[in-house]
Amino acid sequence: MGAQTAQPEQRYQAKKTLIRRIQSDRSQRVRHTVQWLFVALNGWIGMQFYLWVRYFERGGQGLYIPRPAGVEGWLPIAGLMNSKFLLLTGHVPAIHSAAMFLFIAFLLMSLLLKKAFCAWLCPVGTLSEYLWKLGRSVFGRNLRLPRWADMPLRGLKYLLLGFFLIVVGAMSAEALQGFMETPYGLVADVKMLNFFRDIGLTAAVVVGLLVLLSMLVQNFWCRYLCPYGALMGLVSLLSPVKIRRDTEACIDCGKCARACPAGLPVDSLVQIRSAECSACMVCVAACPAQDALQFSLPPRRTALPAQNWYRRTLGPLAVAGILVYIFIGLVLFARATNHWQTNMPRAVYMDLVPHANEVNHPGM
Ligand code: SF4
Ligand code: SF4
Repeated sequence: MGAQTAQPEQRYQAKKTLIRRIQSDRSQRVRHTVQWLFVALNGWIGMQFYLWVRYFERGGQGLYIPRPAGVEGWLPIAGLMNSKFLLLTGHVPAIHSAAMFLFIAFLLMSLLLKKAFCAWLCPVGTLSEYLWKLGRSVFGRNLRLPRWADMPLRGLKYLLLGFFLIVVGAMSAEALQGFMETPYGLVADVKMLNFFRDIGLTAAVVVGLLVLLSMLVQNFWCRYLCPYGALMGLVSLLSPVKIRRDTEACIDCGKCARACPAGLPVDSLVQIRSAECSACMVCVAACPAQDALQFSLPPRRTALPAQNWYRRTLGPLAVAGILVYIFIGLVLFARATNHWQTNMPRAVYMDLVPHANEVNHPGM
């Protein structure tokens, strides 16, 4: 015979040997702990804010609880507007300055650690995660939308983000300051609370629909609709730390891709650049192979493979530590420089808070 026939063992690539990871993965335990601590912090802030609002609604009767500035973490548009004000003027705005510090902290997290804010801190992200897990146990599975529906729907959050960026981008420093000083700007947080306290039928149906969709589709809100997550995702493209796969250690089992809540093809990429990656490390937790999947800086190219990842990977405790460090660092800085609280006389709130529902957007 002229042509040589390949032996079966030559025709097929030899199956890679699995070198099992030595230590069990702790990433999800650490991440869930951080998530619940942040939910508890938000609950604590929410309770104080509610008591503060009730004080003014009762005409100044009862115990006065100071307004918790942390509630402004729920005012991302104010954070965006105030950040632009800071850029234009070099001055920290007087109203809702905490919104700006928190906004900057969350951007910084995304710049360093992908969209970790969404999977580690954001209470809406936490709720979304538990809703799809609940949906999976109730319906037996979650739905994955086909690509033709998934791609355009993912664009919705960027459209919403684009709208806010264009509107805020067109405002001058005077317009930004003027907006914050309007009654609407001053009680934007009270209006948000009232939205949920006095929820109308239409809004309740929309929220109910979102809850149902979040049970059916993994992270429905975050994946398709959240403009804040869209912004964090775009910033996260610059993050030097990414999920990285070592193709030599990987045994191509596909467990990482099947586990990824963002539906990313982790098993066929060397690094995950996607703006959808939230650094949840679920893929890392699912991987059975030692050092195959890491949340890390790019590996060194050394002669000894064992040194490639030396001091390059970020374990879950390091991720949690950096997130907490940035968060607490910015809050302490704002407090130390006396820029954390919005210092508005009580009489102003006494006028505005009980009538917050009657206050309209200045553009309406
Ligand atoms: S690639 Fe990994 S870290 Fe990124 S979203 Fe998917 S499971 Fe989470
Ligand atoms: S889980 Fe993914 S990275 Fe880990 S061995 Fe399987 S295919 Fe490779």
